[in-house]
Amino acid sequence: MGYTLKSSVHCSGVGVHSGQPLTLRLCPALKGTGYVFERVDLEESKRFIPATFQNITNSKFNTQIGFKDVVISTVEHVLAALTACHITDMIIQIDGPEMPVMDGSSGSFVKIIQEGGLAQVSDTRSFLVLDKELFVETSYGSSIQLMPASYFSIQVVQDFKGREGVQNQFFKIEDVYCSFAEQIARARTFGFYQDAEKMWAAGLSKGASLENTVVVKEGVVMNEKGLRFDNECARHKALDIIGDFALLGYGLQLACHAQNPGHELNAMVMKALLENPGHWHIEEKLVKPSFEI
Ligand SMILES: [Zn+2]
Repeated sequence: MGYTLKSSVHCSGVGVHSGQPLTLRLCPALKGTGYVFERVDLEESKRFIPATFQNITNSKFNTQIGFKDVVISTVEHVLAALTACHITDMIIQIDGPEMPVMDGSSGSFVKIIQEGGLAQVSDTRSFLVLDKELFVETSYGSSIQLMPASYFSIQVVQDFKGREGVQNQFFKIEDVYCSFAEQIARARTFGFYQDAEKMWAAGLSKGASLENTVVVKEGVVMNEKGLRFDNECARHKALDIIGDFALLGYGLQLACHAQNPGHELNAMVMKALLENPGHWHIEEKLVKPSFEI
């Protein structure tokens, strides 16, 4: 089945880049809509931005999409929650140029999706099923290998290369659709205090704080309550992969092995998939969300 929401739900928070207050509203949509962002702060003729790989406009610090000169940033955390819940059609209304960062994870989005309840829009969901391996790497040594598999599984190796003595992290999830809410949704975005200082000096990340980012300073986690998982950073990298790959517009059946992944690499992998249609096929599947609807 593919799903949308039974009724609209909303949440409010600040934008991590602008620091401005923003309200996000998830609205039910008809079959075939896909994921469409709607900038309700703009005039009707240019407020809609379809969430597709072709509309990616920037992958540097987050994933930004755009259409007709209108952009929306940091789409990956809400898209991860939608695709993991088997939601295939949704209008995502927002009153500014970026999504609210909430606590830096997908937890708030999963929570409001569960509150809104799911409504079936189709009998099956279309899945991209990988048939042949694909390997993509960046010039700076990050890589993703995709392999045929029975489920959508992900493993992430996060190598901090000895920076500030932070231990490397490893995370593996066997079935994303079954375990996203428990194992991934609450993993927050993270960064080093030194990098944050540079971003603030450049006028970026104005909304970033310990409320929405795990921050490491001189090898120590600054957040009062510490980490939610020992390998929270690696889990968040898996979250970003799921959210970015949602722009392909399909459920996924493949194994993804990632080494120090990031949004740029994730976009390169989607491009490689679309340029190699002989490596995969589309299959219609019956699906069920992992929570009661
Ligand atoms: Zn992220």
